[in-house]
Amino acid sequence: MERFKEIGTLIHGKAVLSSPFSEELVSPVTNEQLVVVRVSVPQNVNIAIDSAQQAFEQWKETDRAERVRVLIKTADLVAECADELAETMTLEMGKTVTDAKAEVAYTEGYFRWFAQLLEGPQSFNVRSSKPDKSISLTYEPVGVCGLITPWNFPLAIPGRKIAAAIAAGCTVVLKPAHECSLSAWKLAYLMKQAGLPDGCLNLVFGQGESIGKLLLHSSKVRKVSFTGSTEVGKKLYRQAADTVKKLTLELGGHAPLIVCSDADMDVAIQGSIDAKLRNSGQTCIAPNRIFIEDSIFDDFVEGLIEKIKHLKVGDPLNPETNLTNILHPSSAKKVEQHIVDAIDRGARFLYNGKHVYEPAILDSISRDSLIYQDETFGPVFPLYRFKNDQEVVRMANDTPYGLAAYVFTGLDERGEAITKGLEYGVIGLNDGLPSAPEISFGGVKASGFGREGGPEGLRDYQVSKSVSVNTNSWK
Ligand code: NAP
Repeated sequence: MERFKEIGTLIHGKAVLSSPFSEELVSPVTNEQLVVVRVSVPQNVNIAIDSAQQAFEQWKETDRAERVRVLIKTADLVAECADELAETMTLEMGKTVTDAKAEVAYTEGYFRWFAQLLEGPQSFNVRSSKPDKSISLTYEPVGVCGLITPWNFPLAIPGRKIAAAIAAGCTVVLKPAHECSLSAWKLAYLMKQAGLPDGCLNLVFGQGESIGKLLLHSSKVRKVSFTGSTEVGKKLYRQAADTVKKLTLELGGHAPLIVCSDADMDVAIQGSIDAKLRNSGQTCIAPNRIFIEDSIFDDFVEGLIEKIKHLKVGDPLNPETNLTNILHPSSAKKVEQHIVDAIDRGARFLYNGKHVYEPAILDSISRDSLIYQDETFGPVFPLYRFKNDQEVVRMANDTPYGLAAYVFTGLDERGEAITKGLEYGVIGLNDGLPSAPEISFGGVKASGFGREGGPEGLRDYQVSKSVSVNTNSWK
């Protein structure tokens, strides 16, 4: 890929570099300038929407084979450029290059998954209760989609939204997190190389609030898919009302992780580490409340400490590093605030590093602590004891959020019963890494609505049309 020194609003395949406002992106890892981003002024955003609308007229008619070809070619190019894409993410937001490489593969998987979904039927005949009628149900692209994405997965979250929209026949205006503009730019560049027509994917850069309003208030944008905090998601929900827009909201989580006494201890400990320390805990599905059955509490803690004390914490660019020494500034602040508050309210450390980016284990946590009530977004393991399944299911559901949950048990029936009781959209049963392109990903309650990926992944970008035919009327 070429070296990009300056990027700007991408409209109809061309960068607009004339904006008077710019932001210099500096890597938190090297402290060096990564790129200069020309910030999108309102006029740029509106032209980007027009460009997407114009391109939609053709893209929605493009046959399925061509859409599949573009998706597969993009997946191939993402795989070919894996090292560069991974390094860009690490330099932008500090995740380890190992996590970043896993994210590249995850992104590639979404492009392949949506190509595969297109092979399935997109219309159905429905049996009518009347003998003289026939009914058809067809899924059609919803139209121009405004996509707004966070900084914690700079490639995979834009990728999974774009892949779904483009597969469905929609066109896109993407606003990535401002810190991670370059990853989004590189993905758009690869899609152009893959043959995606100009105008199908437009990028706008800048602060979320002002760009968000333009996307939400435009009647030309028929759908907005947002991944980010619940606080911002609620604002967008209100703003979408005026134009009655279709919405997907992938919001915050506060995952419980339950370890039963009959669980395989090694699987449960490794699963807890995988779930908690991926991206240093800066994931919406990271377990934030870890419930351990009383009788195995001490063994679990001993095994967990034994594993985490050997993790290598340091330079995220070093492939041997397990945990980065660079947290996002908002995460670093929250980790510190949650730990101080929990300790003030009587919690104690079972394991403690010297820095906020190192793993910490806490127990004896009071239920009025911030850490019990809200996601931490960092490498802290807050442990709680439980005595029976009813109690733990009640505690697990004791939150406004409902994105992901985890259960570790050796007993099928017990796992099934606990899973049934959990009010969450995604559950890992003896599985610390439950997200994958083929999983229907999304939450319930304050974690939002809509699903990304999985068998129903195209539906959020489609509208259904029913045609009821009076068959007696044919001449
Ligand atoms: P955020 O502050 O809500 O920002 C997310 C995106 O929204 C960014 O592009 C941001 O732009 C933009 N934005 C901010 N304020 C806006 C507004 N008023 N109107 C429109 N857009 C606005 O979230 P974040 O800190 O980047 O990400 C962390 C949060 O995302 C966590 O709560 C995490 O749980 C959640 N998350 C959820 C999922 C999921 O699938 N459910 C996945 C990953 C993360 P700027 O660049 O200007 O900030």
